[in-house]
Amino acid sequence: MCYLSAELSHSLMSSPVENVVIVGTGCAGLTAAIYTARANLNPLVIEGTLPGGQLTTTSEVENFPGFPEGVDGFQLMSNLRTQATKFGARFESAQVTAVDFAAMPRRLMCGDRTILARAVIVATGASPRMAGVPGEKELYGGKGVTTCATCDGAFYRKMDVAVIGGGDSACEEAIFLTRFASKVYLVHRRDTLRASKIMADRTTSHPKIQMVWDSVPVEVQGVAEGAVSGLKVRHVKTGVESVLAVKGIFVAIGHVPNTGPFAAALDIDEGGYFKPAAGSQVKTRVPGVYVAGDCADHVYRQAVTAAGMGCAAAIEAERWLAEHGG
Ligand code: NAP
Repeated sequence: MCYLSAELSHSLMSSPVENVVIVGTGCAGLTAAIYTARANLNPLVIEGTLPGGQLTTTSEVENFPGFPEGVDGFQLMSNLRTQATKFGARFESAQVTAVDFAAMPRRLMCGDRTILARAVIVATGASPRMAGVPGEKELYGGKGVTTCATCDGAFYRKMDVAVIGGGDSACEEAIFLTRFASKVYLVHRRDTLRASKIMADRTTSHPKIQMVWDSVPVEVQGVAEGAVSGLKVRHVKTGVESVLAVKGIFVAIGHVPNTGPFAAALDIDEGGYFKPAAGSQVKTRVPGVYVAGDCADHVYRQAVTAAGMGCAAAIEAERWLAEHGG
């Protein structure tokens, strides 16, 4: 049996019960906010550490339907937020640290505050995975280490840079960087790329891209100077270490879904992504709790697919609330 402290039980009794709480403000979360707000559900949207999500770190989005000339990622997210607000969505900055989805209403713990909700849409996205080598953290963000060629590539005009990774993202970043950089090293831990054949062929045949096969990063150099001066790599078969004299390092080794606080309450796959209930992309094993966007999708990971999932989750939440007295 679980006994609540008098203080906690009083604070829960005085908290309003929200119809629907949406966690996350990327494409999925904001689309869910537009739909649930327009359905008069007065959603509360929890905005975490990167308001607007991953798209706010992108300059030009060329493949979002409806924008033939392309659209700035930050502007697109700002438009979605304005649209959600227009229909009555409310936004709050908070970090969900734990949840209790066995309780009804559902509980979302944000530090010392608990939010109560009948329905929940989790759209927490995914964060870029980092290599975790010395110097990477110290020189991240404006000092030479980045995860976004589209955002930062133009700063490396006529310089040598390195991309770490062997998937489609790494190839895409490397090809994009050839527009600016003199030379792009692609550092991959194996001797074949994981990327699709077309991307792999384009990358390996590009005159400005030099493959650094079977190699892992071991240190980002330049910490004392406050700017990247090189990337030390180790050949995994020979153990030989060498330094690539680069000024920019683009880490493209995949993403980590932001599912941690929900992992005990919902099903998670081996990669840490939410595993929706059979037959649905957005339903979970907990009635009235839905997932949407990159936190539940390691396959497509597109702005438009995330938006689609946000829409589907909102419609499911709306139906569930109608059936269960929302
Ligand atoms: P990914 O396919 O998971 O590739 C990650 C790469 O990073 C792999 O080559 C992996 O090596 C390497 N890696 C992982 N952890 C590492 C570590 N700790 N140290 C060094 N290397 C490490 O991720 P992604 O490239 O971001 O793509 C994700 C999904 O989006 C894929 O389905 C992809 O097809 C899709 N996508 C498509 C496009 C497009 O079609 N234009 C563009 C971008 C992404 P191993 O190969 O040895 O595992």
